[in-house]
This record gives sequence, structure tokens and C-alpha cells, in this order.
Amino acid sequence: MAFGCGVEALAIPGPTPLPDRVVRAMCRPSTDIYDGVSVKATEAVLTGVARVFRTESPVYIQIANGHGGWESALSNVFSRGERVLVLESGNYAVNWGRMAEAMGLAVEVVPGQPRGPVDLDAFEDRLRADREGAIKAVIVVQIDTASGVANDIPAVRAVLDRAGHGALLFVDAVASLGCVPFEMDAWGVDLAVGASQKGLMAPPGLAYVAAGPRALAAHAEAGLRTRYWDWTLRDAEPHYAKYCGTPPTHLLFAQAEALAMLFEEGLAAIFARHTALAQATRAAIAAWAEGCALEFFIRDAACRSDTVSTVMLSDGSSSEPLRTLCRQRYGLVLGVGQGETAEAKFRIAHMGHCSAPMLMGTLGTVQSALEHLGLPFGRDGVAAAASALAERLPTETAPA
Ligand SMILES: *Cc1c(COP(=O)(O)O)cnc(C)c1O
Repeated sequence: MAFGCGVEALAIPGPTPLPDRVVRAMCRPSTDIYDGVSVKATEAVLTGVARVFRTESPVYIQIANGHGGWESALSNVFSRGERVLVLESGNYAVNWGRMAEAMGLAVEVVPGQPRGPVDLDAFEDRLRADREGAIKAVIVVQIDTASGVANDIPAVRAVLDRAGHGALLFVDAVASLGCVPFEMDAWGVDLAVGASQKGLMAPPGLAYVAAGPRALAAHAEAGLRTRYWDWTLRDAEPHYAKYCGTPPTHLLFAQAEALAMLFEEGLAAIFARHTALAQATRAAIAAWAEGCALEFFIRDAACRSDTVSTVMLSDGSSSEPLRTLCRQRYGLVLGVGQGETAEAKFRIAHMGHCSAPMLMGTLGTVQSALEHLGLPFGRDGVAAAASALAERLPTETAPA
């Protein structure tokens, strides 16, 4: 017997649930790529994504997942042998660094705090030791989807400024853009990467790279440019050139619709919703953790992200029975563990098109599965989450 039916409920950190409006935006015949709706969709996506990045700088669209965005960034800014510093805090910055290494860059990793964010002190020490300014760029992730940690990007910028170091600041905002505040220009971020399938509520397949003035200046000298990724070629007309080939028309229709939804709800309202849903999730996990069978992976409560929560089984046993039970019998897909102690971890995403009933369904399902498996959970996490939401909701709302 199983309780799932129809559409699987996804609580994975990407791809995130697609709004019906976004699905419907793709249900149309092929269109011309030189004129009309395709060109309009490109314009809507370029201006909309720049608005979410909060930048006046150009955005480039890659027909790729986030990894393609990383490669576009590296190829367009660097030359072989240049040095980059990776601030570790889970998996994603390190993986971006591995890609840089494979492309011939000299990559150095500053280990993060154990089960925590990037180590800003070690970062500052390393910058100060770099008297000749060999470090050309610093790579950091805003929310690391593997560990569930949120890094403080303005604090990273402040370290660069304090050390008087001119390295470019590269930020992976794939798992945070459109969910939590990101201020590319105000925070002094030189290059930022996003992707369609997380907070931006569209299908996988589009990566966005926003390049600030200093990244563009480096681009002019970059030796790793290739014909396919080269931003300069993508700046040219016609429309076709922006993609170095046929535009991904239906993904653009989907993304344009998803952006329209983001702006209708309003970024401030979206950020508040993500914070409330994350707090409800954390209230549930904290209640369950009193049973001592599971715990937060990220130790410092202040560094837990508002888009994904990583949970660990305290005795190091595998999360696989729980995830399989949820998927096969309840119709709920939880995120697998990644990185160190991957086996023992699972992840609950609360990212993108996620509402209170969707989240409460997820938490209730997880709790039911914990009970079915006989895993001791301390308190009723679902009740704790319900209370957290009730407390977060402002009592007075403006008339609609
Ligand atoms: C999902 C994700 C990526 C990119 O992953 P793709 O699977 O290549 O789209 C990069 N960084 C972070 C933080 C992510 O969460």
C-alpha cells in the first residue's frame, strides 16, 4: 500500500516545484527566433534577472545548468595560470574551484568552519599574506545547498576591503537568488551566477552570469575565452548571437512567466515567506531533535539557510530508509545527502514556489515516516512548525 498518488511532491533543492502558470507558458508551438515573442522573452529574462540580482551590469544567459554558468564565468574572466581562492563551506564553491583547476587555474581552498560557514579569519590572513596580489579572484557561495549553510556575502566583501586586496569577488547565488536578499551592486560583488531551476521557479537549463565592471575589464584580457562562451560575441546582434545559436525559446517563455510571478508577489514578500517557512522547518527539526535520533547539520543556528535545511542522523546511520519510505510509500521526494557524511544526511528544501500547505505537508509526511520507522523524535515537530507560522504572520495586513 502507498499513500502517494499523481504528482510527486518535491522537497528537493532543485529542480523546485514549477508553478502551473510556468508550465502553461511552455505549452505553445515553436516560434520564430529572429523576431517577435522569442526576442521579447529574451529581453524580459535579461532585465528581470538583472532586477533580481539587483545590478545595473549585463547578464549573460547560458543554455546550461549552474555548472555551465560556472564555466562561462571562468572562461570569460581568466587566463591560464591565474590564481583563485575558494572559500569552502560545503560542496559548491569547492566544485567550482575544481572546474577552475581543470581549466588551468591555480586554485587554493580556505577550509570552512566545521559544519559551518566560511572561515573569515583564515580568509583575511591569506589575503594579507598575498603581498604581491597574486590572487585574482575569490569564489564563495551564498547558500551552500549541500551543507545548508548561509554565508554572509557583505562580510566577505568587508574582509577584501579591510585587507585592501583587489581580488574579484565571485558569488554563486544559484540556491539563494530570488529567495533571500542579494545585492550585487550594493555589496560590491564583481560576478554572480544564478540558475533557472531553484528560486527562479523555471525548469533546469538556463544559467545566468551577471558581470560587473571589473569582471568585464578582466574579460577584455582573458585568455580562456572560447567561441561558445565568449560574452563579447554574445553582446552582438542578432538575437541568435546571445545564445551562440538557437535560443532556448520555451525555457525563456517559462522563465519570463516565473519572473512575472516573482515581481507580482514582490521580492520583499518572497524573502519574508522564505524566512517564515525556513523558521517553521527549523522549529520542526528542533522539536524532532529532542529525541536525539537526528540533528541539524549546521551547528550555528544563525548560519542555517532560508532555502534548504540539512538534517543528519545523529548516530551516523543511513538516511536511505527514511528517504525511500517517503518516496515510495508517501509520494514525497526528499533531498539526498551530499559531501561529508552524505549517507547520514537528508535535506528538506523550502525554496522557490513553496507555500505553507506544501511545507506543512512535507513536514507532516517526514514525521509520519519517522514514526513508522520507529525513529525516536522528541516532540511534535508539525505542531511546532504550525505555531512558528502562526507567530510569524503579521496580525494586521493591509487591505488587498
Ligand atoms: C544547484 C546548484 C548549483 C548548480 O547546479 P546545476 O545542477 O549545475 O544546476 C550551483 N551552486 C549551488 C549552490 C547550487 O545549489
